[in-house]
Amino acid sequence: MTILTASPLLDRKGDFPGMAGDWAYLDTAATSQKPQAVIDAIARCYGPEYATVHRGVYERSATMTLRYEEARATVARFIGAATPDEVVFVRGATEGINLVAQSWGQRLQAGDRVLISALEHHSNIVPWQMLRDRAGIIIDVAPLTDDGRIDEDALIAMIRPETRLVAIAHVSNVLGGVADVARIADAAHAMGALLMVDGCQAAPRLALDMAALGCDFYVLSGHKLYGPTGIGVLWARAEILESMPPWQGGGAMIDTVTFEHTSYAPSPARFEAGTPHIEGVIGLAAAIDYVESVGIDRIHAHEAELVRRTRAALAGINSITLYGPQASAGILSFTMAGVHPHDIGTILDEAGVAIRAGHHCAQPLMKLLNVPATARASFGLYNSADDVDRLVAGLARVTRIFGIKP
Ligand code: PMP
Repeated sequence: MTILTASPLLDRKGDFPGMAGDWAYLDTAATSQKPQAVIDAIARCYGPEYATVHRGVYERSATMTLRYEEARATVARFIGAATPDEVVFVRGATEGINLVAQSWGQRLQAGDRVLISALEHHSNIVPWQMLRDRAGIIIDVAPLTDDGRIDEDALIAMIRPETRLVAIAHVSNVLGGVADVARIADAAHAMGALLMVDGCQAAPRLALDMAALGCDFYVLSGHKLYGPTGIGVLWARAEILESMPPWQGGGAMIDTVTFEHTSYAPSPARFEAGTPHIEGVIGLAAAIDYVESVGIDRIHAHEAELVRRTRAALAGINSITLYGPQASAGILSFTMAGVHPHDIGTILDEAGVAIRAGHHCAQPLMKLLNVPATARASFGLYNSADDVDRLVAGLARVTRIFGIKP
């Protein structure tokens, strides 16, 4: 008797015009392709629905303002924020972290410490270094486990009374490991520190609930979540946001202005100076609607299955070294003995397989792994088992071209 089990794999390639054609796109950790629903929402926004927000007294602008604020509510629901007012629209995760460093960071003084991990993206390293240069803070770096996850025991042991902030990636953009945010939040809070989470790679793959995670700041980028570029989210607990000074001045972030004195709007408006990225916000809400229609848990299961198949196939090629934990979320990195990752990427491209080769904006991690670069395959909800097969066939071609025994 044959027992049929439902395949966890999704079949949604057809929703994505960018996936059409003869190629396997395996660079979703860099940026995701967009479903037609998002492209349509942006086209409508720029077409028959277009007007500014927050200022217009005419109906079109009032309608657009409603949609803009509905999008904020959509984001809040998606990430489990307590209220939409906890959602600040920014350009992306990079801007979100810089906002925290430059606004909240103003309360830090010489000798205060910020604790990050060894696998952070440059965007969660450099803003703290800039603050170090301005304010004299000290940056501590927690080590990794042998399989490339944040060593949470070591990280927790490194939280000191002077640690004001722990700032870590929820999912590593290089190794795909998932941090136990709730555990780290409890440990940080027990020592009087706050926790900021870089959720760039988690938001497209994991169900998010800010209350359950227990963190204080969370950032994400729309373009990795099947939405537009140039839009992202900074979430912070309401009382923290309210206590933070503005970081950019201009229109829309004020209450009253005279030449002598200006008073500021409450958050989130206080942090959204200038005309916002209207179509970005509308497009992001459309992306979230799309993701929710597929189901984030199904997306997670789909990518986990593709990663499992890829790891199993690559483990059979002797010249390949795989990095990161077995159960990595949608992302895996590898090197091949005797072949530079850029050459792997170029040969795979000839075979219609698009991967990323390089340092992935994580140069300190590359140093730790003792490699100049890695090849990275990363999956999205639109990838198929066929994409995995193409990657594996392409890598076999790399070994043939370089005369390596597979
Ligand atoms: N953090 C992580 C973990 C990322 O993967 C990225 C994008 N590669 C960023 C931060 C920066 O995101 P963005 O460039 O969209 O601001």
